[in-house]
Amino acid sequence: MQEELKEDSQKRPLEYVFGGLSSHQLVGQNECNHVKEGIERFFNLQLDIKNKRHIQESLDAQIAGDLLSGDNEYFCEKCNARVDTLKRVCVRTLPRNLIMHLKRFDFDLDLCRRVKLNNYLEFPEYLDMEAYTKKGLAQKENREYDESEIDMDEKQKKETKEWNDIYDVKSVHSIYRLSDIWC
Ligand SMILES: [Zn+2]
Repeated sequence: MQEELKEDSQKRPLEYVFGGLSSHQLVGQNECNHVKEGIERFFNLQLDIKNKRHIQESLDAQIAGDLLSGDNEYFCEKCNARVDTLKRVCVRTLPRNLIMHLKRFDFDLDLCRRVKLNNYLEFPEYLDMEAYTKKGLAQKENREYDESEIDMDEKQKKETKEWNDIYDVKSVHSIYRLSDIWC
């Protein structure tokens, strides 16, 4: 197993060092407790920083997501009804080294061009990402995820399993120390 691990990390060093999985969730609200999940690989987290003062505000906004209700209600196949649903993105599997990409460019509709956002953004030396993970959110919301109940297609299931097996993700800790800033 160790040998296999080593071999695979050499074959795919970028994934091994920087790769993580994000979870795109549709979380049923009120009477619906079903979750639909899509999984995507990432090498950096893209964060909105407009009108944000602290990196945690950007992360909070990402997990707060959008509530689909009224005309936008989502049809849950398991409830066979239209239900209020929270659409959000969180981290499913944290990478060994986390790169955050701050979206410093915005489109100004009045000027009709891209503008750079120069607002100051505070960043702690140590950042605990647990609260922004699927696991952290499930704990906070007192919700249990039964993986077999989660709606994923076969490709996503295979990809998730592969990722967990090969990269030994359980060993990844949720606390990161700020090491570099590139502007
Ligand atoms: Zn449902």
